[in-house]
Amino acid sequence: MSKATITAPTDRPTTEFRSKHVFDELGMVHDPDNLYLQTIDAVLTAAEILELPHHLQIILAQPKNEIMAHFPVMMNDGSYRLLKGYRVQHNNALGPYKGGIRFHHDVSLDDVKALAALMTMKCSLVRVPFGGGKGGVKVDPRALDRDELMRVSRRFISAIATQIGPDSDIPAPDVGTNAQVMAWFSDTYQNIAGPNNRHDSLRVVTGKPIEMGGSLGREKATGQGLVDVVAELLPNMGMPLEGLTCSVLGYGNVGSWAGRLMQERGSKITAVADHTGAIRNDEGIDADLLAEHCELTGGVAGFGKASSPTEAGSNVHATADPISIEEFYRTEVDLLIPAALEQMITSREAEWMNCKVVAEGANAPTTPAGERILLSKGIEVLPAILCNAGGVTVSYFEWVQNKSAVFWDIEHVDRELNKHMVLAARRTQLARHRFEVDMRTAAYIAALDQIGKVYQMRGIFP
Ligand code: GLU
Repeated sequence: MSKATITAPTDRPTTEFRSKHVFDELGMVHDPDNLYLQTIDAVLTAAEILELPHHLQIILAQPKNEIMAHFPVMMNDGSYRLLKGYRVQHNNALGPYKGGIRFHHDVSLDDVKALAALMTMKCSLVRVPFGGGKGGVKVDPRALDRDELMRVSRRFISAIATQIGPDSDIPAPDVGTNAQVMAWFSDTYQNIAGPNNRHDSLRVVTGKPIEMGGSLGREKATGQGLVDVVAELLPNMGMPLEGLTCSVLGYGNVGSWAGRLMQERGSKITAVADHTGAIRNDEGIDADLLAEHCELTGGVAGFGKASSPTEAGSNVHATADPISIEEFYRTEVDLLIPAALEQMITSREAEWMNCKVVAEGANAPTTPAGERILLSKGIEVLPAILCNAGGVTVSYFEWVQNKSAVFWDIEHVDRELNKHMVLAARRTQLARHRFEVDMRTAAYIAALDQIGKVYQMRGIFP
């Protein structure tokens, strides 16, 4: 979904960054719309509350490495395009850098830096032994055919091949990339890495196709982790999943799996929006049929125009009315799941919203100004580093399976994922009560607590 089409051009916070002193110390320019500064400001606010030593705060305020590469790719018409790609390695105190690579026309260095920092926090919160990284190529994958996409994937991985590795930095899918792209990444790396560790180096990438060392359950993992979190937290807030109403923003991998799995638990999806439009049916939209429709047509627009109520559906329907994006946000629901891109819920959307809880499936979908409005309206915001950590958790399981040459069945994957998600949710709640903070700050505190302890034990080299 294009950020520009949905969000206001600027979303100035009413107050200054709370971590202004650190930004000044590091010579960082104060741009209130900058996703990286917004992200680090929230992390450092939690670090202050936790009384994390100042030297750790400045370490975490900047990524360890920022890699930028320009590389030529031949298009099908014989012309060449010079593309720009990034890999940011934020922190590896807990283990190898880990995080996805996105293909999107809007990719920028600061966005990738923010997403890498979120990976550091996410891995720590769910206690998987990885640090945080992220990558991206500034390209619109929808404008490429399969061969062009393959050449972009292979050239980018060869451009950063010396910087990644199965025990140092492990990419995965993100927006605009999928299991097929991971297969090309892994194969390219294996060819470059040489014959000695050729097969072991398969695990340089996670999110691979099952036949090529992927894990069962990885594709649905982010959506499933989100459902595990809301299943743990919402009933205690008087909201059982059975009968809950939900709206979903973005119906790609995360949104469509979250929608389908919520429906499986008895919740009703009443509104969905993406870059092609927005739809609503107060009786419930069939989440499975919508996923099929999006797979075929590329988006939610036009869903159910000529359909009738589904057989399975006593209360789910294959029909829906087109609505505006404003109507989508204004639809009254128990739970809203933003599962598209960053910075989509600004103060404008937050004013419109009419829900009790937001569960962030996307990374950083809520701006600080948007979040302040949501909290002032009494809306609970369950943060991305908790809600969308299921993806990297099953990535970790995939890496473990590759390393030990075993294959887990789906029940085992689901059970282990649930354990990580439930414990992360409880850790967040504990921090919330102990420090009397909102859920985002609590999640950062729970993540930073672990990182702080590890730094204290290891010390700073030399
Ligand atoms: N890109 C996903 C995320 O943002 C998954 C990362 C991974 O599996 O390493 O969490």
